Amino acid sequence: MTASHQLAARIASLGAVMEPALRFIELAQEYAQRPELANFAFGNPQEKALPDYVAALQRATVPQDKDWFAYTLSNPVAQEAISASLRAWRGIDFAPEDILMTTGAFAGLFVSLWTLAGPGDEVLFMAPPWFFYEAQITAVGAQPVRVRVEPDTFDLDLNAIADAITPRTRAIIVNSPHNPTGRIYPPETLRALADLLAEASVRHGRPVYLLSDEAYSRIVFDGARYPSPTEFYPYTLLVYTYGKTLLTPGQRIGYIALPPSMPERETLRGALMMAQITTGFTFANALLQHAVPELERLSIDVTQLQARRDRLVGALRELGYELHSPEGTFYLLPRSPLEDDWAFSQILLRHNILCLPGMVTEAPGYFRLSITASDDMIEQSLPGFERAMNEAIRERAG
Ligand code: PMP
Repeated sequence: MTASHQLAARIASLGAVMEPALRFIELAQEYAQRPELANFAFGNPQEKALPDYVAALQRATVPQDKDWFAYTLSNPVAQEAISASLRAWRGIDFAPEDILMTTGAFAGLFVSLWTLAGPGDEVLFMAPPWFFYEAQITAVGAQPVRVRVEPDTFDLDLNAIADAITPRTRAIIVNSPHNPTGRIYPPETLRALADLLAEASVRHGRPVYLLSDEAYSRIVFDGARYPSPTEFYPYTLLVYTYGKTLLTPGQRIGYIALPPSMPERETLRGALMMAQITTGFTFANALLQHAVPELERLSIDVTQLQARRDRLVGALRELGYELHSPEGTFYLLPRSPLEDDWAFSQILLRHNILCLPGMVTEAPGYFRLSITASDDMIEQSLPGFERAMNEAIRERAG
C-alpha cells in the first residue's frame, strides 16, 4: 500500500519560507567539491581548525569523573567561565546561573522564540536578515514582520520599527554586527531603540523582548568596541555562538544569557530550560561544555580577517565594483553589476567563484562574499571577478 505523507501543518507552511536558502545550500554543496572553486558562499572554514581548539577538545574528551558524559544541562564550569569573561569584556555582571548553554545560536534563537512567542504574536526582524529568522518565527506559530534597515547607512530604521510595533508585538530580533551588511549598530541607535521599546511595552501593557543575536560580537574590525543591546534594554536575551569566533560551526555550542537588569530572571530561566528540554534537549554537548574555559580564550585571527577584508575591498573597487567596508562579521556586500544578482552569480560561477546572490538573503541587487575564504582563494579569484565585471558591462550595453 502507498499513501502520501501526512506532515504537520507547521512544516507545510515552512516550505515557501525556506525555499530560496535551501535551494542555494544545495547548489553550494554541489559546487563546493570543485578543487579550483573560490568558495565565498558561507561562513565556513576553508582551512583546518586552530590547533589550540583541537587540543582543547582532545583534553575535554578524557573523563575526569563518572559524570563527565552524563546528561548535562548547563555545566556550572562553563557558566562560570562565561560569566567571568563577559564581566571582563563587557563590564556587565551576568550571573552564572543566567547563562544557558545551547547548541549554537540556532538553538539559542529558537528556544527564546519558543519560550516567548506563539500564535497571535508578532515578531519583528530586520531585512536583509539571516536566512532562518522568518522560518523560526513561523515555526513557533508567530507572525514574522520584516522591517528594512536604512538603505544608505544600513543602520536600524527606528521610525520604521516604531511604525511596525503593534499591541501584538512580542519580540524584536536585532543582529549586530549585522549579517550581511557588517554594520555595528552604534550606542545612540541602541539607546533610542531601548527608549522606543520601553515606551511600547508600557503602552501595550506587556514587555517587548529584544533577542540580541550576537553571533559576530567578537568579529569586529579596526579596534571597534562592540556595544550590546544588553547595556541599554533590560528585556534583552543575549544569544551567542562559538561557531564564528572559532570558525567551527559544525561543533554546536553557544548560549543564551540574561543580563542582571532583566526583571524576574528566575521565572524566565526556568521557562527557557523547559523549552530546551521540549525542543529536543538543545543543551550543548557535554564534551564541548567541558572545553568552554579554554574556548573562551581562543579566537580565529581577526587581524588576518581584517587584512583579507582590506585586500578584497580594495581589489574589487579597483575592478569597478561598488562596496562598503564592513565594521564586523565575515561578509562583504558588493552591488551586483547586473540588476539580476542571481544571473550575475551565475557568471561568477562560470569563473569558479561561488558567492551568495543577494536575492537569497533579501538583499536584491547585491551579492555577499564570505572572507572566511583562504588568502589563496582570494588571489585566485581576482581575474575571475575582472572578467565577470567585463561580461556584465557588455550585457548591460547590449
Ligand atoms: N545568527 C546569524 C546572524 C548567523 O549568521 C548565524 C550563522 N550563519 C547564526 C545566527 C547561527 O549560528 P550557529 O550556526 O553557530 O548556531
